[in-house]
Amino acid sequence: MARFDYDLFAIGAGSGGVRASRVSASFGARVAVAEESDLGGTCVNLGCIPKKLFVYASHFRDDFEDAAGFGWSVGERSVDWSTLLANKDREIARLNEIYRKLLFDAGVDLLDGRVRVVDPHTVEVAGKTITAGNILVATGSRPSVPEIPGIELAITSDDAFHLPFLPRRVIVVGGGYIAVEFAGIFHGLGVATTQLYRGPLFLRGFDDDVRAALASEMRQRGLDLRFDTNVASIEKSSGGLRATLEDGSTLEADTILYATGRSPNTRGIGLEQAGVELDDKGAVSVDDLSRSSVPSIWAIGDATDRINLTPVAIHEGMCLAKTLFADQPTRPDHSNVASAVFSQPPIGSVGLTETAAREAYGEIDVYRSSFRALKHTLTGRNETTTMKLIVDRASDRVIGVHMVGPEAGEIIQGFAVALKCAATKAQFDATIGIHPTSAEEFVTLRDPVR
Ligand code: FAD
Repeated sequence: MARFDYDLFAIGAGSGGVRASRVSASFGARVAVAEESDLGGTCVNLGCIPKKLFVYASHFRDDFEDAAGFGWSVGERSVDWSTLLANKDREIARLNEIYRKLLFDAGVDLLDGRVRVVDPHTVEVAGKTITAGNILVATGSRPSVPEIPGIELAITSDDAFHLPFLPRRVIVVGGGYIAVEFAGIFHGLGVATTQLYRGPLFLRGFDDDVRAALASEMRQRGLDLRFDTNVASIEKSSGGLRATLEDGSTLEADTILYATGRSPNTRGIGLEQAGVELDDKGAVSVDDLSRSSVPSIWAIGDATDRINLTPVAIHEGMCLAKTLFADQPTRPDHSNVASAVFSQPPIGSVGLTETAAREAYGEIDVYRSSFRALKHTLTGRNETTTMKLIVDRASDRVIGVHMVGPEAGEIIQGFAVALKCAATKAQFDATIGIHPTSAEEFVTLRDPVR
């Protein structure tokens, strides 16, 4: 008889937990996964998917305006928030069911409820005690907000996906990609939007030229961006909410959205009592095979706060399944992970920023181009696309590719493959462009700017 009820018990049926469970089961492991909320986790329910649907919705304003330059007349336009929410919710419900079926078809047992870890091989869920050879913490993360007076009047990104009405005026607080994306969404939907960030420029960690280019584009579109600014307190006012800033000035809004970071969902579920080491932020400390300080407990995804993106959580889940059940210890590869910010215009990025490249390699060449995309020669929109390549001078390898402009995410995905293959600048130059596109610019950058 088996020593444990399962070979693997995954806590959380989000991006990482579902992939680790399905792949482990496909290797013959006996697997259960428990979920306390909706299947698919943050990405499906409160992250990537509904966010991108909102980005599409908000982009129509530009599209309608731009159509005129091509001879189209577009009549009266308005957005119906309740239709958008209902359609978005219908799509998410469809995805939840797909996840249920994927787990069922893979032979993974699905349990409903919040899990507590009892000891290195035992968990409790919905009043049941279950044993497992391995426990996987794939519990994700949740929004974290500062403790200022009146913070309970503000919302987080979780709430923004279910707002009962579309506000007239919004303040977005934060400088990460989620704050930037929501500022663009609200602005595009016609909401008077102010974004506040306490640092000198948002999107810390992205290339400086990219950050500056996006700030300039957002301001040009009419967003009120304020850096080196923070909220001291929030209170109700006759017209809605009033934010008092640290310099004493005030701002009125109907909704104040805090996107000021996320914390791993790891506290209060028995991990520390079971001997699992957490860092100061609460992330599970793991080795390069995703093993925690307790040999039978593993962790992946946002719960480990490595690179908090869905495809990374999925990759870590795949690697873990191979390590545990395919006799192939597999380290997740966190190098050259491409990412996009679905701002307006969007950002796509892979490899090192100029600053990081200079630190790591010393001698680098920087190629940069800023131009107006062909489409906007007729729309009249004064939007600049920015592209940047960073090259290690010694090896001629391209070590950073960055872009701000339409379809940046779609374009950068292909260049991420080139970077994985260690492509050189000479190989970029030898590649014939696709004309007329914006992407061809990346293979025709001739002279370094620095
Ligand atoms: P999750 O997918 O969050 O899954 C964790 C699951 O565990 C949840 O379902 C939770 O309910 C469950 N759980 C937690 N504790 C317990 C417990 N004790 N018992 C039972 N169940 C539990 N990433 C991208 O790659 N691209 C994007 O465009 C993008 N946009 C985003 C936009 C927003 C607004 C947000 C918030 C995130 C976005 N992300 C994006 C990040 C992405 O959603 C996460 O990195 C990803 O979901 C992490 O996967 P995970 O498996 O670690 O956790």
